[in-house]
Amino acid sequence: MILQDLELVSVTKRYGTTVAVDAVSHHFKSASYTCLLGPSGCGKSSTLRMIAGHESVSDGSILLAGRDISHLPPAKRGTAMMFQSYALFPHLSVRDNVAFSLKMKGIDKPERYGKAGEMLELVDLSALADRLPDQLSGGQQQRVALARALITRPQVLLLDEPLSALDPFLRIRMRAELRKLQKELQISFVHVTHGQDEALALADEVVVMNNAVIEQAGPARTVFNAPKTRFVAQFMGGHNVIALPEGHFAIRTDAVTTTAPDQGTVAADILAIEYQGTHVSVLTKIAGDQEVTALIADADFFAHPHNPGDRIGLTWDANSLHPLTA
Ligand code: ADP
Ligand code: MG
Repeated sequence: MILQDLELVSVTKRYGTTVAVDAVSHHFKSASYTCLLGPSGCGKSSTLRMIAGHESVSDGSILLAGRDISHLPPAKRGTAMMFQSYALFPHLSVRDNVAFSLKMKGIDKPERYGKAGEMLELVDLSALADRLPDQLSGGQQQRVALARALITRPQVLLLDEPLSALDPFLRIRMRAELRKLQKELQISFVHVTHGQDEALALADEVVVMNNAVIEQAGPARTVFNAPKTRFVAQFMGGHNVIALPEGHFAIRTDAVTTTAPDQGTVAADILAIEYQGTHVSVLTKIAGDQEVTALIADADFFAHPHNPGDRIGLTWDANSLHPLTA
């Protein structure tokens, strides 16, 4: 078996004096779904564009299946990119948009239409092959863009914020389709997003970037459950960061429980209560002016309801505390 792993070796991108990507190394396993997650400006798109070959590497190298692709043109790398805006040709039919790269390669019409037909079937758009892009919904346009990227048979599909142009309902549906497609094709997807929920829903592996470097990488559940830094804990959400005599820790808001005032690990004053449907979020203040949120299952909360201003106790299992390194 030939491993199709993608490897970044100390990859750096400089734009003048700006260091957009700072000596990033990472191993993307073959046939896996990876999300590059981080706030705007942290270097996600630059990293993706260097992998695609749409941006030169300032330093370091990019290997695919052991081959150094750092200086190859985009079409020769074994990668394909799906852009945020889809960039469909407005005057070409859906079929011709999908077949476009094959036309550029000089492949004759029957063959390229045959392949385009297969791709349109894959994304469930066969019935719309003769339409123009502006006769399609946002979700359909996105599937055309996917088919157009996949027709080159890439080993790695690169997606830059592919769902950001869709409304929230469609976004959730399309992410399920992306996940299914990746499983069917058994190729690697590298998907850039700034949404932690999107990354958790999709990724085998989440790579969290901040300030041009990788802050933490690992299986989605590990990164969410056991953030290593304050930044990751706060960016992933659903965590408290607290300072205790032993150091700084992250603890999931749903791992904090409320008790009677004298029975908790710490005493707390309730600042605010927010009903969230399945849960109630109880914002408190503990010693040292630190805010701690306890996310309580709604039935548990309403069995012993509280109000802002109440003094309570908070407790947790020591195993739920994750020490932070920065
Ligand atoms: P992200 O995709 O995470 O939002 P980018 O990779 O687009 O981040 O940008 C990382 C940094 O590089 C930012 O500070 C951005 O302003 C800068 N940058 C991106 N593209 C260019 C460019 N073509 N020229 C100059 N600076 C750029
Ligand atoms: Mg970007």
